[in-house]
Amino acid sequence: MNEQLGEARQQILATVRDFVQREVSPVASRYEQEDIYPHELVERMKELGLFGIVVPEEYGGLGLDYTTFAMVFEELSKGWMSISGVIGTHSILAYVIAKFGTEDQKGHWLPLLARGEKRGGLGLTEPDAGSDVAAMKTTAVRNGDEYVINGSKLFITNGRYGDVFLLLAKTNREAQPPHRGISAFIAEKGPGFTVGRDLNKLGYRGVDTCELVFQDYRVPAENLVGLKEGQGFYQVMEGLETGRINVAARAVGVATAAFEAAIAYAQQRKTFGQAIAQHQAIQLMLADMATKVQAARLLVYDAAAKKDRGERCDLEAGMAKLFASEMCAQVTLDAMRIHGGYGYIKDLPLERYYRDAPLMIIGEGTNEIQKLVIARNLLRRYAS
Ligand SMILES: Cc1cc2nc3c(=O)[nH]c(=O)nc-3n(C[C@H](O)[C@H](O)[C@H](O)COP(=O)(O)OP(=O)(O)OC[C@H]3O[C@@H](n4cnc5c(N)ncnc54)[C@H](O)[C@@H]3O)c2cc1C
Repeated sequence: MNEQLGEARQQILATVRDFVQREVSPVASRYEQEDIYPHELVERMKELGLFGIVVPEEYGGLGLDYTTFAMVFEELSKGWMSISGVIGTHSILAYVIAKFGTEDQKGHWLPLLARGEKRGGLGLTEPDAGSDVAAMKTTAVRNGDEYVINGSKLFITNGRYGDVFLLLAKTNREAQPPHRGISAFIAEKGPGFTVGRDLNKLGYRGVDTCELVFQDYRVPAENLVGLKEGQGFYQVMEGLETGRINVAARAVGVATAAFEAAIAYAQQRKTFGQAIAQHQAIQLMLADMATKVQAARLLVYDAAAKKDRGERCDLEAGMAKLFASEMCAQVTLDAMRIHGGYGYIKDLPLERYYRDAPLMIIGEGTNEIQKLVIARNLLRRYAS
């Protein structure tokens, strides 16, 4: 890492830590419990440049690397995981445009996304097609200079407050294998693009996750990513590597917050005449928690470093996401356990950490799918 990048990284991390401490942590539990959208925090995130962390500087972004990107997600998630979601799929859209878009697409969309002037999202999952992406039913039919899109998407983060989405649709329903018939569009809200219901979630509350409905929605043909039909599946799969890095980093952030709360509480709470931290059973739990958190962190940084070298990192990002999310579910439960009854009460953020953890197991491809991705890559690497 060069000196300039090192300084830029330290600067953004210090800024984000300060933002989280002063502005996010004080309101996180209330906003989350009351499902309040954090408009003013999102405005601050724009000012801090967080919508363009990895967008190249020439397009108005901060031009930082994926290791810094992961560290920023970790810091935000220590305060409140939901706010990192606002820039999660937004960053996948920006990545796909930067990597696969035409010069015109990059020049038009990346500055708008980097400034947060347009908030992005990912429209991939459908009511009947989640893990099985190729089963999607949304279609895009070319009509002159436009594509006419019909179908629906479900579980779309930033659905209500976002402006523009990486929308996946079938331009060829006969293609074999079916994923070769999928194309990706830069789809801005307009006539025929409706936001349906908001989903009522276990955790990850405060931010919008919605149904999107498309009825004869027309998108200009110039918004087909890279102006290439049939490439959408490959484009989004590469974008999802960055999504898996960000989700794994969120898991590390939430688990770190839970661990730090637990080790502080264990030194204050007394039972049988001494702090519970002096009971060996609690010490064993703390040691396991800290070790797992650090192992997950290193997996995340390893995947991010590979992305920074310009290499594909499906295997590493899949491992990081799998390990970090399962670790987060265990560590948040253990942190609650160490807090006893108080951990179960909404006065403390412990129960929030515990409710937030499962999203990381399901989002950006479930952990069962991660295992399949990991195994496929291993078999390729160790082919005999
Ligand atoms: C809060 C939230 C936010 C989200 N945000 C977005 C978003 O912004 N954009 C977007 O496009 N999507 C988003 N998603 C969707 C998410 O990516 C999907 O929910 C996820 O990919 C799983 O798809 P599914 O829900 O259809 O489950 P299914 O695919 O129906 O899976 C059900 C179960 O079967 C298992 N399974 C499926 N296939 C296999 C297999 N071959 N082998 C073994 N097990 C298998 C799965 O692991 C899972 O346990 C979000 C989801 C949530 C909950």
